[in-house]
Amino acid sequence: MVSKHINSVVIVGGGTAGWMTAASLSKAFAHLPISFLLVEFPTIGTVGVGEATIPTIREFYQKLGMHDIDVMRATNATCKLGIEFQNWNSIGSSFFHPFALYGQSVRGVPFHHYCMKLRASGYKADISEFSLGVQLAKSGKFTFPSENPPSTMSVFDWALHFDAALFADYLKDFSIKNGVKHVADKVVSVNLRADDGFIESLSLERGEKINGDLFIDCSGFQGLLIEGALKTGYEDWSQWLLCDRAVAVQSESHEIPLPYTVSIAEKAGWRWKIPLQHRAGNGHVYSSNHISDDEATDCLVKNIDGKLLNNPRIIKFTPGRRKKAWNKNCIAVGLSSGFLEPLESTSIALIELAIDKIRLFFPDMSFNEDVVTEFNYRTQVEYERVRDFVIFHYKASNRTDSEFWTYCRAMSVPDELSYKNRLFKSRGHLVKYPHEIFQASSWTSIYNGYNYLPDNYDPQADYFSNAYLLNVFEEMRASVKSTVEQSQSHNEFLNYISGIDP
Ligand code: FAD
Repeated sequence: MVSKHINSVVIVGGGTAGWMTAASLSKAFAHLPISFLLVEFPTIGTVGVGEATIPTIREFYQKLGMHDIDVMRATNATCKLGIEFQNWNSIGSSFFHPFALYGQSVRGVPFHHYCMKLRASGYKADISEFSLGVQLAKSGKFTFPSENPPSTMSVFDWALHFDAALFADYLKDFSIKNGVKHVADKVVSVNLRADDGFIESLSLERGEKINGDLFIDCSGFQGLLIEGALKTGYEDWSQWLLCDRAVAVQSESHEIPLPYTVSIAEKAGWRWKIPLQHRAGNGHVYSSNHISDDEATDCLVKNIDGKLLNNPRIIKFTPGRRKKAWNKNCIAVGLSSGFLEPLESTSIALIELAIDKIRLFFPDMSFNEDVVTEFNYRTQVEYERVRDFVIFHYKASNRTDSEFWTYCRAMSVPDELSYKNRLFKSRGHLVKYPHEIFQASSWTSIYNGYNYLPDNYDPQADYFSNAYLLNVFEEMRASVKSTVEQSQSHNEFLNYISGIDP
């Protein structure tokens, strides 16, 4: 028997997660008789951070028919070619995690194997010289990647730094034009069906009752529906991710915006600097067991050059994930579904993945258990793989200058990460797990950044002589260099976006 279709979807929360979900689902299901309603209580406010993204954000809005330049104009965005990690491996050290390859494969063998081979005979080049993404970033340049795969120009990608509130507004306009009904009121109770505990309706402060078939919880850390009403449970990952607070503040910026995020490791966490067109976003993520809120705030504020535009705000969180992102007729998206920490700017990307899965597994009124299980399994794996990528930064650091870093160096890590690291160490092999956001090139860049190098290289790299490889390397280096030289500055690109003549 065919089950009844879902007719009404209710989204609770008007932050980045809520409006991304509303925009995407209302567009994807525009041809179906499904109503979408988003309820938010503006007085509660959104988390108010979340300004750095990874390249998948561009696919997200392109699927909605939006263009890079329009989104950048609407959100005061700058380009992001990657993240520079300062003081992470040791005080004074620096490396990049670009959205780009570190050198190109030759005969199917990844570039880092050839590097290892040459290093064994005394070759000293820095592998990042062969990464167009890193070299553009370091030179403050920006250009669009080529869509022609064999081209040097196709080997990098880019994302945005944007004003998250403006991005939510942009998506809100889009969603409302697409038929999403918007209600500004507070949800005061979540009413469950007596027979099976599914959500039946929401009661609002002004007395209205909202019924729905499917409820999407985008209410932030509290998880008003998924936790408050359905008591789903939360898996806490603080044994690996010690940071549980952030202090954030916006500042004036008179500098030319960098085309990358800066992450600076501190004694019990790290600081971020995110350049937007009109201001900078700054924050300090830290472990409250190792430093106080005042110390963390001082450390943040004393390192900001421009005038502060608001008061520093402390945000508390527990790193981890909701045990089930989908429970009964409720799906948690965004902070209600989990949060690691913003080191690799992955939270918005996890929202995109959740929305993709909602589209893929869009239920009917039977809420088939296998569908729910598959959704939850994939969500779990996506979170775990991001978790491991973030944990690696702490585990691999060679810093020993505080109790925080000493703990991180000594801690044991999840099995999948440990296995991945062992395989890389033994012969430079990069394990690719299913549903993993970060690709081999990202792992190569962080392994290299922490000087975590393989003991052996792929024997196929011996196919070429050192002399031949040195020539190939020089050609790659020259090609990267000339592309960087010919590219416009990031500032010229931003001026073009804002309509300022050079
Ligand atoms: P919120 O922004 O908290 O929105 C919750 C919504 O629920 C609000 O609209 C509120 O009004 C509504 N609401 C709550 N209760 C009720 C109620 N009772 N009735 C009606 N409405 C209600 N992500 C990145 O990708 N990149 C980053 O660089 C990044 N940096 C971050 C830095 C920090 C310190 C933190 C904490 C997070 C960061 N994130 C980042 C995560 C990112 O901010 C979030 O993933 C994103 O903003 C989505 O938040 P949200 O919409 O789930 O929740």
